[in-house]
Amino acid sequence: MSERSMLMNLLMAGAAVAAVATALIMWQKMQKGLPVQTRNQALGLLYEFQHAAATPLHVLRQIAEHMTIEMTAGLMTEGKSNLLMLPTFVENLPDGSEEGLFYALDLGGTNFRVLRCLLGGLEGRVLKQEYEEVPIPKSLMLGTSEELFDFIAKRLVDFVNREGEEYRAKNRRQQTVREIGLTFSFPVKQTSVKSGILIQWSKGFKIADGVGADVVALLQSAINRQHGPKIEVAVLVNDTVGTLAGGRYWNDDVMVGMILGTGTNACYVERDLPSHAPSRTGEMVINMEWGGFWSSHLPRTYADEQLDNESVNPGQAGYEKMIGGMYLGEIVRRVLLRMAREAALFGDQGVPSKMTVPFSLVTPEMSKMHADESGDLRVVAKILRDVFGIQKTELPSRRIVHDVCDIVTMRSARLAAAGIVGILKKIGGDSWDTSGQSGQLKTINRNSRVATSTKLATGRIVVAMDGGLYEHYTQYRIYMQAAVNELLSEATAKRLVIQLSKDGSGIGATILAACHSNYRY
Ligand code: ADP
Ligand code: MG
Repeated sequence: MSERSMLMNLLMAGAAVAAVATALIMWQKMQKGLPVQTRNQALGLLYEFQHAAATPLHVLRQIAEHMTIEMTAGLMTEGKSNLLMLPTFVENLPDGSEEGLFYALDLGGTNFRVLRCLLGGLEGRVLKQEYEEVPIPKSLMLGTSEELFDFIAKRLVDFVNREGEEYRAKNRRQQTVREIGLTFSFPVKQTSVKSGILIQWSKGFKIADGVGADVVALLQSAINRQHGPKIEVAVLVNDTVGTLAGGRYWNDDVMVGMILGTGTNACYVERDLPSHAPSRTGEMVINMEWGGFWSSHLPRTYADEQLDNESVNPGQAGYEKMIGGMYLGEIVRRVLLRMAREAALFGDQGVPSKMTVPFSLVTPEMSKMHADESGDLRVVAKILRDVFGIQKTELPSRRIVHDVCDIVTMRSARLAAAGIVGILKKIGGDSWDTSGQSGQLKTINRNSRVATSTKLATGRIVVAMDGGLYEHYTQYRIYMQAAVNELLSEATAKRLVIQLSKDGSGIGATILAACHSNYRY
């Protein structure tokens, strides 16, 4: 371990002890009314959880290393590792020259978006764009695939019907056929750039059928049932791939696309390709499906075990369940519930009944509590009242709630950072982190473009990031960047740029549709 990392570990351990000691003193000062035993029990549970969820630097390093190993294993064995490493058949990324009118349909885990985009080539770039977003009704997440796709197709057709004159494409074919990029944020085994078989539903979707079916065919049939304008799917992409393409459209240095929203996932440009992912350009985007990553180094707590056991997909998506926005509030709820049960965290009010309801605390509410900087934590008090119906809370209890939010968020952000470093190691080899010296790159595919391989050794690497968790949660971004800085040397950390590419997954899909259009100029 380097001196720097030892120092960081000592500092982190020191900070943790200081935080618990301060909480203890505050608690003793202010909680005279509660029996000493209860008081200590609550802090004991906090300490136990903090310990189990800790992500010191040496653990993050092991996770990053394990990620790199699983990436290679997944690629070589056609996904027979906990990373599926799915070939996307996207071999050409946008360069800015794309032209015409294209649509996208972005099915996330929470929201569903339709977009249109008029592209004007290198000079004009994105001439015009507009989108509509609707929450996916909960009932559709538990229904049939036909119901889900009919709903989506109807919204798409309505949206196309409202296309204004200003979107008129120069290309005559594009005036009669609308081409769309379908962004589909579930694991799909692609059979080409415009077809793919659904491997499984995730992120709380429990749809009886659809697994094993071609999602493009499902959508196309639903569109046809609408008897509306002619619409064809030009490209099927994962949301990470849309994000990567959307980022690359503006910036050549973008090599990784990543999502931190309801769930989490990443894709990247691979040059060391296995035979089942043939590419004419020598490179292909690989969809890692990293939500499925698992490592014994991951700091799993009782709350994670409970959450997993009661989830719709037990034993799966282990990494995602520690990171994704769908789960963070729920982990906090489970920890608070235990403290309420075993240590009377909320005093004589006992266990609030709403606290026993799974997913009653959503991550946006949790992040508001975490962001509360008022001396008396009044936002925490308000949310505990609004969400769980706890009328009165003592400040020391609110501090504990705040600490739990902090621990859960910090763990998520640091684990995601370790994943990014794992990808960097995979694409750049050990030379990636050479403390600023230009090291030798590991051998890479001969066909790869020299310019890009030089870039890996010396230039910037940009991660295009999309998703509500990253976008709206300021402290999350701070923790993630701090972990990246700890994991990499100063010089390398400067070369890695994490860039928010807002709604990149949707816009990227329209641009990729342009790259793969059947009706080119
Ligand atoms: P999707 O994952 O469906 O594509 P988004 O990228 O918009 O959707 O992400 C939505 C998720 O982002 C929500 O499920 C929530 O977990 C998280 N999120 C949204 N707003 C906030 C917020 N203010 N603070 C923390 N997390 C948020
Ligand atoms: Mg999304």
